[in-house]
Amino acid sequence: MARLRELFYLWAFLDINHSGDYQKTFFKVFEDQNCMDNQEMISRFSLVLSFVSFYVTLFLTHNYPNSSKYIFHLLMMIFMFAFLYVSKLMTFQYVPAPVSHTTTGLYICFLYGITIANQLFGFQLPSALFYVVMSLAPIAFILPPVITTAINAFWGVAHLVVAHLQLSRLDFYEEVLAVTIVLVVSAMMGFFIGRTRAEQAFANQKNNALTKTLQQTSLTDQLTGLFNHRSFQSDYYELYDGCQQNKRHLGVIMLDIDKFKLFNDYYGHLEGDRCLSQIGHTIGSFANEEISTYRFGGEEFVLLLRGTSASRTIAIAEQVRQKVYDLQITHEYSPAAPVVTVSIGVHVGAPPKHEKPMNFFDHADQAMYDSKHLGGNKVSVYKPEVAPVSDQEAAAPEQAQA
Ligand code: GH3
Ligand code: MG
Ligand code: MG
Repeated sequence: MARLRELFYLWAFLDINHSGDYQKTFFKVFEDQNCMDNQEMISRFSLVLSFVSFYVTLFLTHNYPNSSKYIFHLLMMIFMFAFLYVSKLMTFQYVPAPVSHTTTGLYICFLYGITIANQLFGFQLPSALFYVVMSLAPIAFILPPVITTAINAFWGVAHLVVAHLQLSRLDFYEEVLAVTIVLVVSAMMGFFIGRTRAEQAFANQKNNALTKTLQQTSLTDQLTGLFNHRSFQSDYYELYDGCQQNKRHLGVIMLDIDKFKLFNDYYGHLEGDRCLSQIGHTIGSFANEEISTYRFGGEEFVLLLRGTSASRTIAIAEQVRQKVYDLQITHEYSPAAPVVTVSIGVHVGAPPKHEKPMNFFDHADQAMYDSKHLGGNKVSVYKPEVAPVSDQEAAAPEQAQA
């Protein structure tokens, strides 16, 4: 049984075709040696049986007179089709398409070819015909299974027509030899073409995976798992433009850990890294379709929100502050609290036209410093109208006094 399985593995290795499904099986066979399950074994076994059955057909047909031979040939063809069809039904999910389409189709196609050649010429022109038939071999490996099936249907009809017209007696050994040569040559051509294609696809697949990993690595921060500053740069400008064009809200939540230098000084850099990682993952838990989360740099983080209302943005900022506080990472030297806390600045609104995009962002940064000045562990919101109003208010009493 193990021997048989090995043989089937070898077959899988050689028997590569153009179908994407089949290539997947090829990769699986080589990446996971235990992937060939019993269903696929059955399907391959059924194909072996149908090959054997063809040779048996040849043998049987040569022992009968011409008219019965034709009937036998036809019956055996029908039997093989039925056999393969049933095995395909049985193993439908597991059998890659070419096993049931192209490979089978190709093989039956040549059997028909040889039968017609024999019946027409009785092998009076064998070598010329072999070349013609053999030259067709790679075509079936290049064409999609549907076209191969159509070609087979044509061969089938042609077979019936020719068989009706001329039923000559065949030389048994000549026919076996012919069929064997064609099968071997076509299989070799198919293996070569198919394997080259599969290997190319395999290399492409690996390349794509590598490129994806590299892209991902270059856009994320290893310590926190958040997007990095480079990512922020490209996302921010894109989001700013998008929100401006669609007249949607853009929200910026800026965070800075309070007295983090002190934390590093007292607990060490390693502990500092662990703290950054914990906070980073907490912030990351807010990420969804609406919110993107970034490590802006050092101990500063940013959340970008698209289309979120001002009140919801502020509520989210408050949730972030609370969640970081709830981590309860001891920081006994912080004047803000005995645990690690963050100061948060929020700016939310429709991005104004004719302004530098980073101005909008800087407002969140300014608000963050307001939180710092209030002692940390706070959320402050930038309100553009506040500054001019408070200026007027500041001026008003003076005017009143004057
Ligand atoms: P403030 O409350 O005003 O923000 O004070 P602060 O000490 O947090 O701010 P400051 O900018 O003076 O210090 C930031 C510190 O963050 C300095 C640096 O050692 C630390 N830091 C930045 N990146 C990392 C990192 O990747 N790992 C560790 N452990 N520390 C970092
Ligand atoms: Mg800082
Ligand atoms: Mg800080």
